[in-house]
Amino acid sequence: MLDSEKNKYDAVIGLEIHIQLLTDSKAFSADYTNYGDLPNSNISPVSVGYPGALPKVNKNVIEYAVRLGLALNAKIDRNIVFSRKNYFYPDMPKGYQITQYKYPICSNGYIIIKDKDKNEKKINIKRIHIEEDSAKSIHHLSKNHTFIDYNRAGVPLLEIVTKSEISSGTEAVNFINEIRKLVRFLNICDGDMEKGSLRCDANVSVKLKTSKILGNRIEIKNLNSTGNLKKAIEYEISNQINNISLGQKILQQTKGFNADTGKTFKLRDKEDINEYRYFPEPDINPVVLSQEYIENIKQHLPVLPFVLYKKYTNGLGISAQAAESITENKNIVAFFEEVIKHTTHYSLAANFITISLKKYLNENNLNFSDIKLKPEYFAQLIELIEEHKIIKLIAENNLLPLMIDNPNLSPFEIAEENNFIVDKDLSNINNNIKIVIKKYPGKVKEYKNGNKALMGLFMGEIMKMTNYKADPKLVNKLLLKILDE
Ligand code: ADP
Ligand code: MG
Repeated sequence: MLDSEKNKYDAVIGLEIHIQLLTDSKAFSADYTNYGDLPNSNISPVSVGYPGALPKVNKNVIEYAVRLGLALNAKIDRNIVFSRKNYFYPDMPKGYQITQYKYPICSNGYIIIKDKDKNEKKINIKRIHIEEDSAKSIHHLSKNHTFIDYNRAGVPLLEIVTKSEISSGTEAVNFINEIRKLVRFLNICDGDMEKGSLRCDANVSVKLKTSKILGNRIEIKNLNSTGNLKKAIEYEISNQINNISLGQKILQQTKGFNADTGKTFKLRDKEDINEYRYFPEPDINPVVLSQEYIENIKQHLPVLPFVLYKKYTNGLGISAQAAESITENKNIVAFFEEVIKHTTHYSLAANFITISLKKYLNENNLNFSDIKLKPEYFAQLIELIEEHKIIKLIAENNLLPLMIDNPNLSPFEIAEENNFIVDKDLSNINNNIKIVIKKYPGKVKEYKNGNKALMGLFMGEIMKMTNYKADPKLVNKLLLKILDE
């Protein structure tokens, strides 16, 4: 399709995100929630839905919902009521799901994300409600049978529903990434999309830029990675514009996404809200939260990633990229916060963590939590580099790994012991420069005739001869002086 045709349309996207809570027990029973346990080992009459079994509300679920609501600037409803959403499905044996309907625990929140041009954009959140998960159907073990694992039945979920204010696949991914970061900071969900602890449905429609009326939406279910989320949305947008330009109407539908073909496919026509026959859950009394209860949760919220990002970029002058990377992980944030108590070279410290340290971790297949690095010693390493006592390359390739292996030794001790400290002896550096110049008389001539790129060769040779202990800036200066003589 021509871009000029595409450019006449805006995409309109709203997300529904399910986050699985990290509580020890289920939403309405004392069954464990451990992921990966033997199938059907964490069950009870409540989670398999025996008639007469009575649900009880898990306090932690409410606390986690309030935590998320406050972090997302939402209004918390102090009167919590549950509803039954009725439908038949083998993985929901009681024939209904306990959820919240008219009165979600949180409403009217927002989060700031980056739009496709990396500008800030506010995405409003319609509601967050509590509900229970269904059991898991397993189709791949047999051609003729479906197995059901009830361990997941009754596991607590929060569903976040956004307003339809997202405009592209990229924005949707940025939104999910912000939510994932947030729930990890709040310690309420592990944010693991592959394990299904964070799941996303995307509602997609398109409309003419000149029109105010929204088009009919397609809901794409169960997108289990940010890559698939982006691909599914982009495919769906093109497909809808294509169909409209062929004169077809878009009908409201529920679709799936096939990652192999990169296409969405129809699952069913969208159910009408009346078909669920929602009604108030008669087995659970309303729960009333006090103002003090909410206040207390508010007071114990951690500093949130968005606030830290602002502090790092605006307050400390760290690059957006490094600030983004540090605020991905609350353990790294805690480490960095300690580091900056001991050094004011914030940018170098941030870059060294997000580039050099991350490189080391990747190469050695380690997580940040696997290593013991003292923030104070890390700050000393940054100081050594800033004071030109150690060159950065050696700090990154040699000193850092040794610090990680010997967490109780200071970087200065290690550097001295291993002869890493920069050589300030000018005569020694000058000697090495002269040796290299003698070694390459032809190249020196070429250089003098204008091939300035040869500087790299000379520098490399000299640095090698000094065992990388000379300050490259100083070598450069002395070398230029000798070459230009
Ligand atoms: P329902 O209760 O039928 O699921 P909601 O109004 O709660 O519908 O909306 C569900 C999600 O669909 C929300 O994220 C909302 O922003 C989104 N949505 C609603 N209408 C549209 C539309 N025309 N285009 C894109 N997204 C939409
Ligand atoms: Mg819905």
